[in-house]
Amino acid sequence: METDSTNYEELVHKKIKEMGEKGISQQELAKSVGLPIREISIIVKKLVEKKLIVKKAVKENGKNVVKLFAINNNYDVNIYVSLDSIYDIPCLNCKSLTKCGNGIHVSPQTCNKLSNWILEKTLA
Ligand code: SF4
Repeated sequence: METDSTNYEELVHKKIKEMGEKGISQQELAKSVGLPIREISIIVKKLVEKKLIVKKAVKENGKNVVKLFAINNNYDVNIYVSLDSIYDIPCLNCKSLTKCGNGIHVSPQTCNKLSNWILEKTLA
């Protein structure tokens, strides 16, 4: 069932996130969430494909162990772009805007208004 598999996916992802930088092996994960290792493998594969987790080999007690780590996808960054340099571009007030395009009669390549605006901007 889709709902069950989604819930298990969320549960597994949450557990991996909780382990933070320590990470968790698939075996530990299976024990911790109470799912068979085969089911865990399928869920882990999906989470890796969705780029929510990564597998990394780490040294523990002299042995290489493959552990799972959550990828931090919290992009709470606001990016502001200043449009000051193009606020007066003629296209924004052009009556032909919806009819204008590359390779047709009215186009940016042949437009005098746009060419003059670009020249004014580059010479200013
Ligand atoms: S390129 Fe010229 S015709 Fe096309 S939308 Fe801009 S100002 Fe209008």
